Amino acid sequence: MASKHKRLPTNVPGDFFVDSGCIDCGTCRWVALGTFDGKNEQSYVREQPQGEQIAAALRAVVACPTGSIGTLEKHDLQPAIESFPMPIDAREDTGVYHLGFHSRDSFGAASYLIVREGGNVMVDSPRFNKGLVERIQQLGGVTTMFLTHRDDVADHDRYAAALGATRILHKRDLRPHTRSVEQLIEITEPTALDSELLMIPVPGHTQGSMCLLYKGRFLFAGDHLAWDVFRKRLFSFKNACWYDWDQQITSTEALRGHRFEWVLPGHGPRGQASAEAMQQALEGCIAWMRKAA
Ligand code: SF4
Repeated sequence: MASKHKRLPTNVPGDFFVDSGCIDCGTCRWVALGTFDGKNEQSYVREQPQGEQIAAALRAVVACPTGSIGTLEKHDLQPAIESFPMPIDAREDTGVYHLGFHSRDSFGAASYLIVREGGNVMVDSPRFNKGLVERIQQLGGVTTMFLTHRDDVADHDRYAAALGATRILHKRDLRPHTRSVEQLIEITEPTALDSELLMIPVPGHTQGSMCLLYKGRFLFAGDHLAWDVFRKRLFSFKNACWYDWDQQITSTEALRGHRFEWVLPGHGPRGQASAEAMQQALEGCIAWMRKAA
């Protein structure tokens, strides 16, 4: 729970605040766009939420991996808690959900749920929450947990046990905390998991990083790519490249020709654009990555 005694001085006066426990994962800044911002490697409330923004700010309270967002007034958090899994698009039933409940162990990475007839898929893992397990079960449970890489796995073992799911991870990202994964794969080329799901190896951020492409529309990018919601562009985290930046560039170039309209990254907001605009954004990202090499 956030403490008003640890309230950061950067917060504007008022009800909502961020305290000094913030690890600067950035989640609140895109879950409640406009309410939070970042400064001095921590987030703060830049503008007190009003009207419908309050519900989004309360979702940020629930999503925050460190419990660093607090309020002076009492709010009912239940609707925010029950809003996860949350559809990624309010206008279209995509069957894709943001799971919320970000974990400190994944540095606040986002995880997702794909609901589909061929068996539901969890992409990466949130912080364990019993209520979330129950709501996932109401949506049909999970057959497969696709772990994009070794970092964003959070409470994967508890979710796998609670949901009876089979986890998939690239063998090169096998570490002590991923030892219990059921299915270790070692692919070097895009490989179909089934007719709707394509696993794409993207070594760079880590040796065993993979993206998951669903229905040729939704690219679950792990920490390989991220989306700049203001400039509508794709980018990568050079200062968080743990394996090989040149390899990461090559992996990004290999995404050319893979049609997608959505990018769902581990860190930061998801993005949507036409397939053509996404290809242009990919070219822009590759040019920027080469310059940064
Ligand atoms: S979600 Fe929490 S830890 Fe992450 S930036 Fe916001 S306040 Fe900080």
